[in-house]
Amino acid sequence: TKWVYSFGDGAAEGRADMKNLLGGKGANLAEMASLGLPVPPGLTISTEVCTYYYDNERQYPSELKDQVAEAIKAIETSVGATFGDPENPLLVSVRSGARVSMPGMMDTVLNLGLNDQTVEGLAKNSENERFAWDSYRRFIQMYSDVVLGVDHYHFEELIDLHKDEKGVDLDTDLTADDWKVLVAAFKKKTQETLGEPFPQDVHDQLWGAIGAVFGSWRIERAKVYRKLNNIPEEWGTAVNVQAMVFGNMGETSATGVAFTRDPSTGENEYYGEYLINAQGEDVVAGIRTPQNLTKAAREKAGAKDLSMEESMPEVFGQLASVFEKLEKHYKDMQDIEFTVQRGKLWMLQTRSGKRTAKAALKIAVELAADGLIDEKTAVMRVEPGALDQLLHPTLDPDAPRDVLTRGLPASPGAAHGAAVFTADEAEEWAKAGKDVILCRTETSPEDIHGMHAAKGILTARGGMTSHAAVVARGMGRPCVSGAGAIRIDAKAEIMHCMGREIKKGDLITIDGASGEVMIGEVKTLQPELAGDFATLMEWADTYRTLKVRTNADTPADTTTAREFGAEGIGLCRTEHMFFEGERIVAVRQMILSETEAGRREALAKLLPMQRADFTEIFKIMRGLPVTIRLLDPPLHEFLPREDDEFEQVAGALGISVEKLKRQANELHEFNPMLGHRGCRLGISYPEIYEMQARAIFEAAVAVEKESGETVVPEVMIPLVATEKELSMLRQRVEAEAAKVFTEQSHTVEYMVGTMIELPRAALQAAKIAQSADFFSFGTNDLTQTAIGISRDDAARFLDEYVKLDIFAQDPFVSIDQEGVGELVKIGTERGRSTKPDLKLGICGEHGGDPASVMFCHDVGLDYVSCSPFRVPIARLAAAQAAL
Ligand code: ADP
Ligand code: MG
Ligand code: MG
Repeated sequence: TKWVYSFGDGAAEGRADMKNLLGGKGANLAEMASLGLPVPPGLTISTEVCTYYYDNERQYPSELKDQVAEAIKAIETSVGATFGDPENPLLVSVRSGARVSMPGMMDTVLNLGLNDQTVEGLAKNSENERFAWDSYRRFIQMYSDVVLGVDHYHFEELIDLHKDEKGVDLDTDLTADDWKVLVAAFKKKTQETLGEPFPQDVHDQLWGAIGAVFGSWRIERAKVYRKLNNIPEEWGTAVNVQAMVFGNMGETSATGVAFTRDPSTGENEYYGEYLINAQGEDVVAGIRTPQNLTKAAREKAGAKDLSMEESMPEVFGQLASVFEKLEKHYKDMQDIEFTVQRGKLWMLQTRSGKRTAKAALKIAVELAADGLIDEKTAVMRVEPGALDQLLHPTLDPDAPRDVLTRGLPASPGAAHGAAVFTADEAEEWAKAGKDVILCRTETSPEDIHGMHAAKGILTARGGMTSHAAVVARGMGRPCVSGAGAIRIDAKAEIMHCMGREIKKGDLITIDGASGEVMIGEVKTLQPELAGDFATLMEWADTYRTLKVRTNADTPADTTTAREFGAEGIGLCRTEHMFFEGERIVAVRQMILSETEAGRREALAKLLPMQRADFTEIFKIMRGLPVTIRLLDPPLHEFLPREDDEFEQVAGALGISVEKLKRQANELHEFNPMLGHRGCRLGISYPEIYEMQARAIFEAAVAVEKESGETVVPEVMIPLVATEKELSMLRQRVEAEAAKVFTEQSHTVEYMVGTMIELPRAALQAAKIAQSADFFSFGTNDLTQTAIGISRDDAARFLDEYVKLDIFAQDPFVSIDQEGVGELVKIGTERGRSTKPDLKLGICGEHGGDPASVMFCHDVGLDYVSCSPFRVPIARLAAAQAAL
């Protein structure tokens, strides 16, 4: 079996489309080498070895050693140096690389191949003793940390101690002799900690590092990241072994990271950071503050340190042409790592860059406009769930703000919450329902769970490509990074800045678009949705077949949803209307009356209000379909609770408070969710549904008469289990319609249908369809009734169920396709077997979840209905499902 793939010198055994086998990094290194770009030669050990390794008690396939040795020989020939040769040593990096990038999750070892002999050879050949010893100490530090498990800070401490002794501040102030002293100290530290010497045999070093990469696939933080991002455990990682190039060889050497376009805004401008005389990790580690790539960016930032464009114009020119070539080749924005060794450019990585939703839209639309991709591809390029970021609020420019300090605008969106200083605390507070801003000196992969739980992230150190920035952008969390004036003392639970103090729990606001950090809560505004957003949504609409409606029951929600492109209302709940202001008294009067006459009296008060609600909604929807659900919740929910509420209702009914309390007590239910609710109310108290039907038809007639536009109300009966329930109630609705139309001498078209939210209803769909013009799958209740869990109580164990993989995802967030989904399928098939043109939709929270939307498309529903802010997400997901 072939386990190892070589690349370098303008050729490669791998290709970009071999990511499954070579991992993203290895596949793209191979592709770049084949394109003739300057890539240090190397080899990739395939992901199949990772699988083999875990299937065989951490043993390698027998052929592996020989294949690696052979590939190393090719690297040696290409570089003209030999691995382990004291005179002329080849150094390599050992890098992990899974199919999809997992930022910072897997550890890389640089400068491997150095020992007490080879360091001398490196010094002699490079004619730079300081560089050689700096590289050696970096190697011991990294290798000890990543492979041997000796914590990083031990070495940092030794460096700090040494600096103090010498009275200097910066690493750059240390000489070759200093590094020699430190190398000895480092080795001693490792020996003390582990009880054995630092490995001097370069082959031991190499296999130790390879083992560490495979081992790191299953460390906790990698698992957490995979869980959060739905990356399967089986994929495994590849290992790349690559000849080192050195950005730390002096002033003509440098290292950097770049994006071919701005990953925050999507602007078509190179964007990146570099550091002179440094090695890869330095840029992202946030230890030194990196410099801008381009002159324009430097000027915009008002920075003094020269940009790469200014300090190394020639190499920058080469880099720019590599950017162009890569973008044309990959037809997408690229995220690139490069190193300059004594004036020569080397490419170390390229991949499609992570970006904000705003940038994703802009880049997709512009690449399509340039003809690099077609509109379909553009639609596929934007992740529907990410649109959520765009719908995030921004700060109200007119709101007063108390600016504490400013950092880098690392990930857009504004957020406010209580300041917390550890990731664990962020998670705990968020679980308790609090909004928090996670404030850290810098973040590391161990903080991921806290970053996920936080509304926003603030760091004191680190650039735009720091860990915090990259991860926050990926998660869609607002982030301000590198706010240098902040000092965080996590132990003391306090943050100091400009002479002010922020204690744990104090409210702060961050603006990830400007980098501002404010004390207190600053008012936020909803975003403007024109331009690229509108263009892409328009393209999406041409491909999708699934309609998108909204769940809305107030004129404000309805208006928002229309702006977001809703094509109708899929669920207008009427109970919210019953709680408003004065109405609740009449509602209570109605449910607590002992006689039909008493109920009718109260309902008569409600009729004009209900009619006014519907009139307004019909007007806003201008002829688009509106599904109105008749009263659904258990009466229980409307009962008075406070004494003054009882008095009010007793007064309206003309009975004593005591008597009223007794009556209310009788209506109490032990399990209201499965109690006297939905169509059961309509069966017990037909006058309620009659009043609602009258309000709907009178409103429809009025709006049609006034506007001349057709209004087609869809009257929806909830919680039907049997055909009989529906046919009985349907007759009532039809009778009321007929009365209204005669009274008004005007007829409107309408439909009567039902929700399918009980398993029995799904199973009996063929029969129920006889009395229904449409079905709407109420997947919230259907999830509760199919799985037998209550939405209000399941939170206690659902988290654990998801962690243990009993459920792949929270079934209230993404539809349980195997169970609840199966009922939807059955309902669809059986319903349509009776009525082929039965209109079918879904109106649970799932209507706005991309995976569920795709499921609905596949099942063949006519529409999904979701909350107003998720309408754009559903539109895009529906288009992607159709493509
Ligand atoms: P990550 O996936 O965390 O970015 P990488 O494998 O890309 O890890 O490596 C980390 C850093 O080391 C990068 O900045 C990269 O540029 C640098 N690096 C990796 N291999 C080499 C090499 N052969 N020569 C010089 N620098 C390297
Ligand atoms: Mg990298
Ligand atoms: Mg329901």
